[in-house]
Amino acid sequence: MQIDLSNTSVLVTGASRGIGAAVARAMGNAGARVAIHYRDRREQASALAAQIGASAEVFQADLSRAEECTALWQAVVARFGRVSTLVNNAGVALSSALESATEDWLEGWDTTLAVNLRAPAILCRLAIGHFQTQGGGRIINISSRAAFRGDQPPYLAYAASKGGLVALTRSIARGFGKAGILAFNVAPGFTRTDMAQEFLDQYGEDYVAGDIALRRLTEPEDIAPFVVFLASGLGDHSTGCTIDVNAGSYVH
Ligand code: NAP
Repeated sequence: MQIDLSNTSVLVTGASRGIGAAVARAMGNAGARVAIHYRDRREQASALAAQIGASAEVFQADLSRAEECTALWQAVVARFGRVSTLVNNAGVALSSALESATEDWLEGWDTTLAVNLRAPAILCRLAIGHFQTQGGGRIINISSRAAFRGDQPPYLAYAASKGGLVALTRSIARGFGKAGILAFNVAPGFTRTDMAQEFLDQYGEDYVAGDIALRRLTEPEDIAPFVVFLASGLGDHSTGCTIDVNAGSYVH
């Protein structure tokens, strides 16, 4: 089955690299007009936009700042006129040991919650308002296996932020379905990106490979097709669901 996203427009946050870049590329390949959001990596975001084609555009914002989340949404709507799908993908995984100074530990929590939970919430709120004037739209939030399985002690804030994102998504699905607004979680397991590299460096590839049921580690391109599928409308009746993409490392 060929998925055709022409006549749709999509905002993908954190699309300068990793999972977000793979999602943006797959959306573009399916015909969507893609807003590629980045924080620092303008060159990578621009190169991706050039690959996707003339309709793709790049947008900068530091999503740890509430006002920049709002400005990002407004900039995309101003350029595109209409957004059909919001993909909240940008995220951070900050290590913050229990033994660290309280101030540092709290700073890790604050940044993690701001980027991984508050920013998606702000963008969801703005998207819902926009979708209500358009007859509907879709939200796809990139959560994590950590929301369900839990994570290592230095990543308590990370797991908690992703658990919050799951609950946020489910609540939107239940609250706004009658308005034609659908909301989904995609929950990757360990996926080979810059974010995962620190863990790979620390524990080694064999450790990670031993944790999964498949023969190779998950790549960003293994996640992207699920997001394209959900954006297409073919999965609308599973609104509120979570799609696990974790190579069988946590089956629930
Ligand atoms: P990544 O390679 O580290 O890329 C992170 C992306 O988020 C980059 O585009 C980055 O922008 C952006 N970003 C980071 N902090 C930001 C901020 N303050 N404001 C705006 N943008 C910011 O990450 P990834 O592995 O692809 O992860 C993507 C999503 O999947 C995240 O939500 C992550 O939690 C989730 N996930 C990943 C894994 C995994 O194993 N990789 C597993 C489960 C879930 P710049 O590069 O431009 O700064």
